[in-house]
Amino acid sequence: MSGCVFCRIIAGLSPSQMVYQDEQVSAFRDIHPVAPTHILIAPNKHIASVNDLTPEDEPLVGHLFLVARHLARQEGIDQSGYRLIVNTGRDGGQTIFHLHMHLIGGQRMRFPMG
Ligand code: AMP
Ligand code: ZN
Repeated sequence: MSGCVFCRIIAGLSPSQMVYQDEQVSAFRDIHPVAPTHILIAPNKHIASVNDLTPEDEPLVGHLFLVARHLARQEGIDQSGYRLIVNTGRDGGQTIFHLHMHLIGGQRMRFPMG
């Protein structure tokens, strides 16, 4: 997906503040952070959204959570807490159609959501 901004970041073709990469996922800082920690965790392979996941992606989805947990600890926010968000589609507020999980923390989150 050469036209996809996140595919380009993951391939190292576009600049980013990459904080983690392995054979399945990449994590980089959001360019418009909404909190002291705001990291995006995305699969290396192009999946447009949650709607496009298949049963074969189940281990990958689990891995996204474990990487989020690892990065929360690395950022020093695992004990203070954090929010994981996966926006999906228009009403979900998704703007980049390459699946990603937001890891947001370092300040108290507002509630309620929506
Ligand atoms: P979403 O609304 O869930 O699709 O989130 C997309 C996120 O990607 C937004 O928070 C943007 O600030 C962020 N974003 C867009 N372009 C880039 C980029 N080139 N590098 C890092 N983050 C980006
Ligand atoms: Zn992509």
